[in-house]
Amino acid sequence: MKTIGLIGGMSWESSIHYYRIINELVREKRGGLHSAKSVMYSVDFAEIEAMQREGRWEQAAELMVDAARRVERGGADFILICTNTMHRMADEVSRGIGIPLLHIADATAERIKPLGLNRIGLLGTRFTMEEDFYKGRLIERHGLDVRVPSTAGREIIHRVIFEELVVGAINPASRARFVEIMNELIEEGVQGVILGCTEIGLLVNQSDIRAPVFDTTEIHARAAVEYALGEIPAIETE
Ligand code: GLU
Repeated sequence: MKTIGLIGGMSWESSIHYYRIINELVREKRGGLHSAKSVMYSVDFAEIEAMQREGRWEQAAELMVDAARRVERGGADFILICTNTMHRMADEVSRGIGIPLLHIADATAERIKPLGLNRIGLLGTRFTMEEDFYKGRLIERHGLDVRVPSTAGREIIHRVIFEELVVGAINPASRARFVEIMNELIEEGVQGVILGCTEIGLLVNQSDIRAPVFDTTEIHARAAVEYALGEIPAIETE
């Protein structure tokens, strides 16, 4: 079994789910007392959030490379960045370490494509929904047709992530708004919805809408276990 490396804390509300899912899956697959070999370095999210909000992306990239190196030194065989947004600097992280990075968008696309789905809705922070680093990868590398909510919908999702979900606040009114936004995307023709922020699964899940939901936390954590146990092939980093 390979040792899974995790950069967590973005936010820890989702990192605890990574840890739980990874260990539950190893137990399910290996049985008995088996659990995952893992190393996590968890950042202070207040520092990260300020860098994101102020557009200090170079500094954020330095911090992520430093975190990744700590995880590598801790003995990880490969690494996960446990947030969609901070994949904005996935290339810098990848170049800064000597172990493979399991990209969250690739893991997600690999779950969508075998189902024959192509037009997919994407919810996440405004960085993830509006910039190219994530959407672009899904489109160019995986051939998906990615749709995001309207400007008003994107504002609601971004605000709820940062004001509620990352501090563990689960608000039924916000859940209703998320469901409305997902249903609008379905009416516009999407065949599934990516929960492209690792906290969104705390608020909504498959039972809320009729189209397939792709929860990136669950998918990323599952892919990590499959890779650690040699069930999926080597990670292509570039
Ligand atoms: N966990 C979130 C994500 O998956 C947002 C936190 C962050 O800004 O890194 O994008």
